[in-house]
Amino acid sequence: MANNEELFKKIISHAKEYGFVFPSSEIYDGLSAVYDYGPFGVELKNNIKEYWWESMVRYHENIVGLDSAIFMHPDIWKASGHVDAFSDPMIDNKDSKKRYRADVLVEEHLQKIEDKIQKEVEKARQRFGESFDEQMYRTTNQRVVENQAKIDSIKTRFYASLGKNDLADVKALIEETGIVCPVSGTKNWTEVRQFNLMFSTQMGSVNEDANMIYLRPETAQGIFVNFLNVQKSARMKIPFGIAQIGKAFRNEIVARQFLFRMREFEQMEMQFFVKPGEELQWFEFWKKERMKWHTSLGIPASKYRFHDHEKLAHYANAATDIEFEFPIGFKELEGIHSRTDFDLGAHQKLSGKKLQYFDQETSENYTPYVVETSIGLDRTFLAVLSHSYREEKLEDGSERVVLNFPARLAPVKVAILPLMKKDNLPEKARELMDSLKFSFQCYYEEKDTIGRRYRRMDAIGTPFCITIDHQTLQDNTVTIRDRDTMLQERIPIEGISEIVQKKIFPAA
Ligand code: ATP
Repeated sequence: MANNEELFKKIISHAKEYGFVFPSSEIYDGLSAVYDYGPFGVELKNNIKEYWWESMVRYHENIVGLDSAIFMHPDIWKASGHVDAFSDPMIDNKDSKKRYRADVLVEEHLQKIEDKIQKEVEKARQRFGESFDEQMYRTTNQRVVENQAKIDSIKTRFYASLGKNDLADVKALIEETGIVCPVSGTKNWTEVRQFNLMFSTQMGSVNEDANMIYLRPETAQGIFVNFLNVQKSARMKIPFGIAQIGKAFRNEIVARQFLFRMREFEQMEMQFFVKPGEELQWFEFWKKERMKWHTSLGIPASKYRFHDHEKLAHYANAATDIEFEFPIGFKELEGIHSRTDFDLGAHQKLSGKKLQYFDQETSENYTPYVVETSIGLDRTFLAVLSHSYREEKLEDGSERVVLNFPARLAPVKVAILPLMKKDNLPEKARELMDSLKFSFQCYYEEKDTIGRRYRRMDAIGTPFCITIDHQTLQDNTVTIRDRDTMLQERIPIEGISEIVQKKIFPAA
């Protein structure tokens, strides 16, 4: 399911219609790349947060939480390198007036060549059958070899030019490789410029440069500057981690991919402090651990892959992304970075305050190294939503749209539906609602035919619908309908809790 634009559009409109995600400021024609979460969206988002927080903070004794402020001293962003280097190279097409990230244009061009190679390989695989040796084919087929050489030479030159900030050469490369604007189809490009992604604002009432502050572009720096506060107050011993969930802001150049690239978004980050020299071991540990977390959501492992970085950021000595197969293709969902002592070191230097750890066993002071896991909450929301979206044709010829969320993440766990709005059925249903609502997010509805109500619950991904009918009044039994199989079963009211609980925590 590569680049499935049609499906993506359907998911976006479903998310709006069923109260998951609304465009921000819609009655004023919206605000680009900013979104609001509706009644069911906020439940799903909170459930994802809770799942992350529990598995990071509650289940790891050596990880503690933090909630640092969004506003921070402006020097923090000087020390971290964001003032000087948190920018993307941008380029405009003079005919379409569209703006692009130069690196994205080049990467997409490389992907096209890569796709061509892949096609040749697949054709050959079919032709040769069992005896096909892919490695040999890739190194001997002339067209494949030529295309691979093209990719290698573009990559080498591109990263070298970016590294030297030689933006004229980045432009020359875009022209020479014949990259055209997807909208106008022309090569009429402007110069490439660096664009800083941080939003700034004024603090206090004096309008001077000294009062300019930034909206944080990542939550990590709030963790670094609190390293000693946390370590001392919670009496943490290395290795230990600090986790934080919070908003981050980036003035993204190109933001046309729904929740994938927003200007205001949320991150779930954990900085793990280790002894220098042990960081690569911990990097491997967290790579495995985080992949386990993703697959524990119930989404198949084939939807995820690692993408190791070829070009490392200035602060890292190892880095990988966990990519997810979104409807727009495999893209980054989480970053895992071995950040060395770059951040703590830089803050010590600029602030003049020590940020070191005293190791009681060896009686030495050192600046810890850091392994970071950084995942986008909104991107995880999009991953879960897009994976769960299903259009099904039923045996009776009708159709339904169902979100088959993992039960644990579903915004509503149980719908309580009196069959009719009379004969004391609503009163009985309310009684049930009152007894279940302290344990599970429930939803009560008495309007419309039962079939319609089932469909609406399918569309927001509710795992169970409970129907209260006349028999309930006689023998205290109800029907429970399973979202995925659509099968209904008659059970005693007292059995509901256990069934729902088992579905939410299957292993428990
Ligand atoms: P990208 O290359 O896609 O711009 P990044 O490498 O800049 O992402 P990081 O700085 O590593 O991203 O941020 C960690 C995580 O935060 C990302 O893996 C992603 O899930 C999330 N994230 C980053 N930028 C955005 C954004 N504009 N909108 C939504 N989520 C984002």
